[in-house]
Amino acid sequence: MRDRIGKIHAKTRATRAMNPGPRYYEYSAVLHVHSRYSDGFGTVPEILGQAREAEVDILGLTDHDTRRAAEDPGEGYHGRVLLLVGAEVTPRQNHVLTWFTETLPPANEPLHTIIQRVSDQGGLSFIAHPNDRGNRTLRLPSYRWTERDIRDFTGIEVWNHLSHWSDRVKGIPTGLWNLRLPWRVLYNGPRAEDLALWDRLAQERPTVGIGGVDAHAVPVPRTHWKVFSYGVSFHAIRTQIFLTEPLSHQNGPDLQQIKRALRDGHCAIMAAHLGREKGFRYWIEDPSQVQFMGDRVSFCPKMRLRGISPVKAIWHVVRNGGRVHTTSGHLLDIPVVEPGCYRVELFRGKKGRAWIYSNPIYVEA
Ligand SMILES: [Zn+2]
Ligand SMILES: [Zn+2]
Repeated sequence: MRDRIGKIHAKTRATRAMNPGPRYYEYSAVLHVHSRYSDGFGTVPEILGQAREAEVDILGLTDHDTRRAAEDPGEGYHGRVLLLVGAEVTPRQNHVLTWFTETLPPANEPLHTIIQRVSDQGGLSFIAHPNDRGNRTLRLPSYRWTERDIRDFTGIEVWNHLSHWSDRVKGIPTGLWNLRLPWRVLYNGPRAEDLALWDRLAQERPTVGIGGVDAHAVPVPRTHWKVFSYGVSFHAIRTQIFLTEPLSHQNGPDLQQIKRALRDGHCAIMAAHLGREKGFRYWIEDPSQVQFMGDRVSFCPKMRLRGISPVKAIWHVVRNGGRVHTTSGHLLDIPVVEPGCYRVELFRGKKGRAWIYSNPIYVEA
């Protein structure tokens, strides 16, 4: 018995010695959610109830052009779920997700003005579903990002469940089929063009990637089905947020900490239907420093990219949009031989399905 315990302790010590990674506290957020204050079908208390059931830590509400939920039921904790009241500023195209603003820019302003007004208030802005294709069967126009010369937003929504799912709906039979399999579209990860866009932008300037669900819970006529219930959406795509201090359950300081983490890209996108184990970390280190995902760092020899996963996974290291290394297991530990914008993609399970997309680490020359 003592032998066994001794072995376990030795193993734990060894794992720690191999992984002295930076200490972060991880929280699971669902972002981009609509309530009855715009075109969603649930009240905010109902949505909060579903979030609680799905063990969501942070609910990022984004009704179209309104923050009414900030008055009722109010931003902050509702039980153990922290409600962030943002909005989706909704011009005809170029939708923008914002959080941490008091007043919303009018949707009829030019995109650069919308983004400017958000950042003037210290808020965060993310281009929503940048490569949305629309859908003829569902009579949805494309809401893609068209003004591609605009910059200065915080980041982009790299993965949007509703927009990605609707690509699969080519008619009523495929619509019904895909309604029964809401997660099937997520198996191979975000659309290639969304990842390529992110990689291009990130090489110009730090660009935070987030995942959104775009939940509306729209009922399907003459059925009991919805596209999708909030509960289903909350198991689709999460944004895992990494904080340097644990949440204190006081609204003010916790909102500030989450804002800093999202602004700095201390977050990763997770396909939560495959499992929501916490413990993923991705960082870079050299003898003098440790930098976390989302950070910028100057290149130096002896630098190593490191990571840990709570489950065995296939790791792909992506530099400037191209895969440069693949490994499998719980750990990543490889030398960095040149500057670039480095992120990792984790696939898991026998079928190797897409699970986690880290934010990049920006290694500058
Ligand atoms: Zn939208
Ligand atoms: Zn939306």
